[in-house]
Amino acid sequence: MNSAEDRRNIGAGYRNGRGGAATGSVNKDCSPHPSLSDSLEGEIRAFLTDEDELHTYDDLTKVNPVTPTTVLKCLQARYRVKVFYTHAGCTLVALNPFQPIPHLYSLDVMKQYHCAPQPQEFKPHIFIVAEEAYRNVQGQLQPVNQSLVVSGESGAGKTWTSRCLMKYYATVAASSSVVKSQDTVEKIERRVLDSNPIMEAFGNACTLRNNNSSRFGKYIQLQLDRCQLLVGASVQTYLLEKTRVADQPTNERNFHVFYQMMKGATDEQRKEWKMPLGQHFVWLPKAEKTIEEDCFLDTVEALDHLGINEERQRQIFRILAGLLQLGNVYFSPPMNESQPCDVEEHSKVFLQRAAELLCVPAEELQQCFRVRTLQAGKQSVLKPCSQADCGMRRDCLAKVIYAQLFEWLVTFINNSICADKSTWCNFIGVLDVYGFECFHINNLEQLCINYANEKLQQHFVAHYLRAQQEEYVSEGLQWSFVKYQDNQSCLDLIEGSPVSVFSLLNEASRLNRASDANTFRARLEKELRENINISWDKFSMVPHFTVAHYAGKVDYHIEGMVEKNKDPVPPELISLLEKSENSLLHQIFSEKETDNVTSKGLSKVTVVSKFKNSLESLMKILHTTTPHYTRCIKPNPDCKPLTFKKEEVIMQLEACGIVETIHISAAGFPIRIPFRSFIQRYRLIAKHSRLKSQSHFSDLEADSSDIHQQQVEQVLEVVSPSLCVDCEKRSLWVHCGKTKVFLTQSMLDLLEDQRKKI
Ligand code: ATP
Ligand code: MG
Repeated sequence: MNSAEDRRNIGAGYRNGRGGAATGSVNKDCSPHPSLSDSLEGEIRAFLTDEDELHTYDDLTKVNPVTPTTVLKCLQARYRVKVFYTHAGCTLVALNPFQPIPHLYSLDVMKQYHCAPQPQEFKPHIFIVAEEAYRNVQGQLQPVNQSLVVSGESGAGKTWTSRCLMKYYATVAASSSVVKSQDTVEKIERRVLDSNPIMEAFGNACTLRNNNSSRFGKYIQLQLDRCQLLVGASVQTYLLEKTRVADQPTNERNFHVFYQMMKGATDEQRKEWKMPLGQHFVWLPKAEKTIEEDCFLDTVEALDHLGINEERQRQIFRILAGLLQLGNVYFSPPMNESQPCDVEEHSKVFLQRAAELLCVPAEELQQCFRVRTLQAGKQSVLKPCSQADCGMRRDCLAKVIYAQLFEWLVTFINNSICADKSTWCNFIGVLDVYGFECFHINNLEQLCINYANEKLQQHFVAHYLRAQQEEYVSEGLQWSFVKYQDNQSCLDLIEGSPVSVFSLLNEASRLNRASDANTFRARLEKELRENINISWDKFSMVPHFTVAHYAGKVDYHIEGMVEKNKDPVPPELISLLEKSENSLLHQIFSEKETDNVTSKGLSKVTVVSKFKNSLESLMKILHTTTPHYTRCIKPNPDCKPLTFKKEEVIMQLEACGIVETIHISAAGFPIRIPFRSFIQRYRLIAKHSRLKSQSHFSDLEADSSDIHQQQVEQVLEVVSPSLCVDCEKRSLWVHCGKTKVFLTQSMLDLLEDQRKKI
């Protein structure tokens, strides 16, 4: 009874997967819902079709019938009464309130969920997911690592939810372990939490969709010791949107850290960073909307806590300041083509400042932008770059520096918070990953992101069905597998071998010549036209291809895709950075050859190959863990508090496959009731029947599953005598396992009808 498995199952409602307690009432104060019969009461109430009751459905599988419209109505009804979490079978749906909800995440509420014998009986909450994972770690036979996968579109609340999960564990699993940094002794939880402001300062930005949008994916593993205390963590990041450093979409901003520096610098720092008050930086556009103050001091404090010393911090900020100066460097066209471009007169001061801050010779920096070195046999030939090329090389320098600095920081954070392998034995992973994207114009970034979502969806379905299968088998039931259209063919199209979009993209990227979008499109069509997941609009003027993802069709523009995949870095830039006298910059670029930057400058590994590899490692980890899915939903595009726009929400429900999830959750025999609970609730049916005299229903304390099974059979016989003679027909409605009764929805309806008649 005390095993994690027991704690998970008992009172968790009777749906397969999570189940979730059907509370039948809105529980505004998070108080528990104690009895099993109350839970079942909720199940039954779910069959009421009265819309006034919709907000009481804690689990979307209870909405009847399950359609996008009914699911939407239920969520809307709940949002109206400020209920933001709803179970959807084995996943949790989290609606973003877009305003602080006092007490919903307080310490007391955390404790309530943590200390409850059956947290599932409380109203749906992210803490149920957190607590379930925490208890699961102990496992029944052996410890099982857990993963909390948080998905949703930009602004839906993934990062917020991830932070909330981390705070939960930092609180309930707080250990006494301490680490030493700069002569101060710190608690490890503090360090783990401090990784958030740093990663957000460097990796988040204000976009049209979200004022604090994460421009990278993140998987953080919280390491637990034998006593389930938090002793450390490690972070893995994915696909930082480094282009933002040098190119911010209209009305969007650069990464937060730059604004924090601008606003938070002391006079002395301003001088050091060559950032006089009022100085305009091209790469620091203002957003149209008002956004909260960025807090430089918080970032610095977090850096302190993680053990990044003052000198290192100085180097980091000087590098960042150097990048800002670079953005103000412009080139004028040469007099004739054989001449290199000149740095524009008024830009010269910025080039000079950039060189000083990056600690490289200004003349060489300028030369790197203006002239490319070509290798002709053993001889090097210098060739002037066009004006556009000069700009590209400047941007490239900024991007490569920023991306490598970000990686360095992540490595530093890991070194600072990762526990020694001998001290931890299990982990809970939190994955904050970009949701499915479908914009007006989609390119390589969206292809990678949507590919990641396909992978996660496949994992989700496979895991869920496998869990279902295991329960059938352990209950001794004949296994009849739920038919489900899986997304393998779409994954084959994107990443398969020998031919796929990725393989063709890599092939085109290997060719050492400028790629033409139309040629690539023709190649795709020739090689992949048999695949049902790809199509082309014959009349489109723009080279493109359309992929039918599980979440919908997405049109990808080909222009620039091959070049983005190559992501080349001119070798001259790397050689220059290796010479930097800023020891951090020098270290980053000379220490080792990283995946995509070599001293020869060219990318060895293409963007899609690198992404595919990192995703594969992630999937390998996920496969060894028990996953828990949370789907965050953004109720309106303007991030307005408590505003629910149906069109917005329905699109997201489709994109995250919620309706399908509910169907899968409800497929087969979705109602699973332990014998004892079944008898408790339905024994009256048999007692009032002609079989009354034979029954042993008062004998519930006897813990024999044989007797229980007999009693269940008696009830079923009364409810539907015909089923008990026709075995084949019966198997479509009901099954008795070793400890549970498996029912279809209709069978439960029938039982409830009979019960009401008594
Ligand atoms: P992106 O993909 O752009 O990174 P995201 O899904 O991570 O988006 P968040 O940054 O987590 O989105 O959330 C956007 C904003 O919504 C937060 O800054 C916060 O203001 C608000 N928010 C999200 N969840 C909650 C919540 N549970 N309670 C209150 N506010 C919330
Ligand atoms: Mg985010």
